[in-house]
Amino acid sequence: MNRFGFLLPLCLGAVACAQAPTQSEVDAVYAGAHALYIEIHENPELSGQETKTADRIADRLRAAGFEVTQHVGGTGVVAILRNGSGPTIMLRTELDALPVEEKTGLPYASTVHAKDADGHDVPVMHACGHDLHMAALVATAEIMAHSKDSWHGTLMLIGQPAEETIAGAEGMVKDGLFTRFPKPDVAVALHVSNALPAGMASITPGVFTSNADSVRIVIYGRGGHGARPDTTIDPIVIAARTILSLQTIVSREVAPGEMAVVTVGYIHAGTKNNIIPDQAELGLTVRSFKQSVREQVLAAITRITRAEAAAAGAPKEPTIERYESTDSVYNNPALAERLRAPLEAALGKSNVVIGPQNAASEDFSVFTEQGVPSFYFGLGGADPQKFAEAKAAGIPLPSNHSPLFAPDVDPSLHAAIEAEVAVLRSLLNTPVDQLHALTEHP
Ligand code: ZN
Ligand code: ZN
Repeated sequence: MNRFGFLLPLCLGAVACAQAPTQSEVDAVYAGAHALYIEIHENPELSGQETKTADRIADRLRAAGFEVTQHVGGTGVVAILRNGSGPTIMLRTELDALPVEEKTGLPYASTVHAKDADGHDVPVMHACGHDLHMAALVATAEIMAHSKDSWHGTLMLIGQPAEETIAGAEGMVKDGLFTRFPKPDVAVALHVSNALPAGMASITPGVFTSNADSVRIVIYGRGGHGARPDTTIDPIVIAARTILSLQTIVSREVAPGEMAVVTVGYIHAGTKNNIIPDQAELGLTVRSFKQSVREQVLAAITRITRAEAAAAGAPKEPTIERYESTDSVYNNPALAERLRAPLEAALGKSNVVIGPQNAASEDFSVFTEQGVPSFYFGLGGADPQKFAEAKAAGIPLPSNHSPLFAPDVDPSLHAAIEAEVAVLRSLLNTPVDQLHALTEHP
């Protein structure tokens, strides 16, 4: 019997869970969290450039009593609070914003511009809600630091750069996230969206987000005069045929019911109407839930692209390059089931629902690949009234990445803080051997 064993039944039964924060605990930190949200929203930074954002988060976590290390994998922040023996639990927020021009009309809308990685001037906006995740993480940190008698173990908070370019998680791991710092027994994250009204949360046991692969294809032909196609091999025609043939992968090769997406997001070729160019470039995004389907689709893309070029007598085999790949985020089902109770205790039983699998992608899977079981849940961000109206009208609310995306801040930030504290306390009151037994089987 572990010395903390007596705490366990608290979140297992129907009894109100002692791990949800009290109203006064949340009230004590809320004004600071809201102000931080506005400050970060007004000052967004692009992926990999989150220096001021990282400083803001680091300062607040240091002030709360955490041991803070900066510049982990670029601008990454790691904050540790040790509180006796027990598990190590990690909570992650992203730090980055997107090259999107904000059109929400909010009084604190971003007007920021910055230079992107290619040196182009672009507008910048927190269009994915990472600002809300940061504000919630800081408030959660403050509550956890003020209530060290309510949990035991090591709390590890991370601010991850460059989620939108799916590079930041890998950067932090390569820079020693799990060797210079304690390796967590469980990693937790949430994501706000308009898929649910503010105040609600969703759990998706098993596969939560999709495998994502970006593929760049260059098709080679033989250029020449537009009036003499007989002297050329036209890469635009090959590209056109290739695009249509690629669409038969999902419709004719993947088993019905399996999730797969093949999107050709761009085609670049040619400079002038009467010139046949010598090459054409295609950019694809490929999504799947299952690893076997992913391999099947990627192999089919290679086969079809090569065969179409060969059929046209192309002088050279196409180059097919896979870049920006990430695996699906996987929620350990036993852990997801176990953490439903603290979420219900924090938000109310009817406010926690089973969520769908998501075709979007995330690099949180990098942490799972390192052997850290994960719990990644969805957080409602929509104004409840607008949500109901949108549902009745059949017109979806703006999605993440939209220039109009704006969570209903107060209810969603409150819910994020309550949910995070409840989940962390629940995990930090579970003996390590029990957590390992729970997460042993993926
Ligand atoms: Zn995003
Ligand atoms: Zn995001």
